[in-house]
Amino acid sequence: MSETQEYDVLVVGSGFAGIHQLMNLRKLGLTVKILEAGVDLGGTWYHNTYPGCRVDSMNPVYQFSDPELWRDWSWSERYPGWKELQEYFQYVDRKVGIKRDVLFSSRVVSAVWDDSVDRWMLTTEDGRVFRSQFLSLCTGVGSKHYIPDFKGLDTFKGQVHHTSKWPTDCDLQGKKVGIIGTGATGVQLIQEIAPIVEHLTVFQRTPNYALPMRQQKINPEEDEKLKNNLYSILFSRRLQTFSGLLCDLDPKPTLDATPEERTLFYEDKWEKGGFHFWVGSYGDLFFSQQANDEAYAFWRKKVRERIPDHPELQEKLAPMKPPHPFGVKRPCLEQRYFEDVIEEITPNGLKTSDGTEHSFDVLVLATGFDMVTGGITSIDIRGQDGVPIKEKWEEGVRTYLGMASATYPNMFWIYGPQSPCSFSNGPTTIELTSDWIIECIRYMKDKRISSIVPTEEAQNAYSEQVDVLGAAALWSKAATSWYMACNIPGKKPQMLQFPGGIPAYAKLCNDSAENGYKGFDMKRFSA
Ligand code: NAP
Repeated sequence: MSETQEYDVLVVGSGFAGIHQLMNLRKLGLTVKILEAGVDLGGTWYHNTYPGCRVDSMNPVYQFSDPELWRDWSWSERYPGWKELQEYFQYVDRKVGIKRDVLFSSRVVSAVWDDSVDRWMLTTEDGRVFRSQFLSLCTGVGSKHYIPDFKGLDTFKGQVHHTSKWPTDCDLQGKKVGIIGTGATGVQLIQEIAPIVEHLTVFQRTPNYALPMRQQKINPEEDEKLKNNLYSILFSRRLQTFSGLLCDLDPKPTLDATPEERTLFYEDKWEKGGFHFWVGSYGDLFFSQQANDEAYAFWRKKVRERIPDHPELQEKLAPMKPPHPFGVKRPCLEQRYFEDVIEEITPNGLKTSDGTEHSFDVLVLATGFDMVTGGITSIDIRGQDGVPIKEKWEEGVRTYLGMASATYPNMFWIYGPQSPCSFSNGPTTIELTSDWIIECIRYMKDKRISSIVPTEEAQNAYSEQVDVLGAAALWSKAATSWYMACNIPGKKPQMLQFPGGIPAYAKLCNDSAENGYKGFDMKRFSA
């Protein structure tokens, strides 16, 4: 049996969150190691390499805000693809030296807390054991892929690929391809492969309210000017908006605007592209059905205009009657999805309910992930009472400040359950939470505190707040939304993100810290 390795902090995952933790915990003089299941950096950007995969947060704010890192890095596009994102992580490594503190091919399977010594004991799939005072879970929102229980899937003779396990040698040129799923992943992949395959059949259960991306090449000279004049302001500004992006919700109620004013407002957001028409629109979109109907009607008109001679396709992609309110399932960004790429869409299934059988060389499963909680619950994490967190959360996720949980001391997660995670730009929430955790650890070291754990009372109050905020809006009106934990059979439906926006979330976190970490119990070192 190998010797136990001892650290101050063990971080699980080497995406944006894990790297931010490592870079900044080092500055406190702590010993830190990242345990990473993959063989290189990047987290979601290491694992997701399907054709067309790219980020849907607009740069320059989808990157680390540290000037040391943005000063010498230039993106080629506003919405870079996975290859460029992977190159970015390599650049960060060259600049700061990340990999020397990452153990790759190290999937953590269990984490057990020992209350007698205030230490976590972690075990990897291959049996190595690690011990640390703190555990930082940076496992991302979409690290556990989901394949529905399709009858007969194992009897399919062609290739089957889930999008997050894309093989490097997959050539779809001239192939007959079927794709199940039209979420963000499905839409990206469909528009990319449609021109090269012989035939593409898309199996759509629910239409995606996709928005125009309006991709732009970045001019290096203009970017340099922006760096000199505005970058630091842009990074501060992203902490002040609901979504951590640069656009923000407009407080004016939709119906207070005249029809003309509203149309011009919508046109402006539509032309700006990206998420402007969603988290840059009238804020009551998420609360008022009437307001939402206005947004949907505009979106439907715009989409139908792009497929003018196909009434049947119009009804499939942008139905007259909305299947759910606009924006309560995450819209995605598209570049040519609604044009001529779709040859055939059939209802759910491979042998469809009308008896038609579809034959393919390759079947693509763009069926998503056990979103938000899957990365954490797939590790057997046991705290003070020995109960696995997966079991605790069976009746619903309970957290304090969307980053810690009662009975699991010295354990934090970043960009996970009940944080603003998927309602926000990744790096914004990640840096906000990561900085808070680092400051908390610094405080504990200064005050000789050996463990910190949320009280049940504080956890219940916070989780209740998330539930109440979630129930006040239209989020629950989409039957299969992963925002509401409804995409995985058996998962308890509930609002999984903090739905009050970044500034409100930051205030709650700061209030706790400024009041001596209110809502947490702390234990001092005995000697
Ligand atoms: P997803 O949004 O969960 O979409 C899964 C798709 O599979 C949906 O269309 C779903 O239909 C369908 N599906 C699931 N089970 C099915 C079944 N049994 N039968 C038929 N269809 C079924 O997953 P995703 O597209 O991978 O995206 C997940 C999230 O990852 C995104 O929302 C985003 O946050 C992130 N992502 C981001 C980017 C980016 O930044 N550019 C790209 C890709 C993904 P229903 O809609 O009816 O449930």
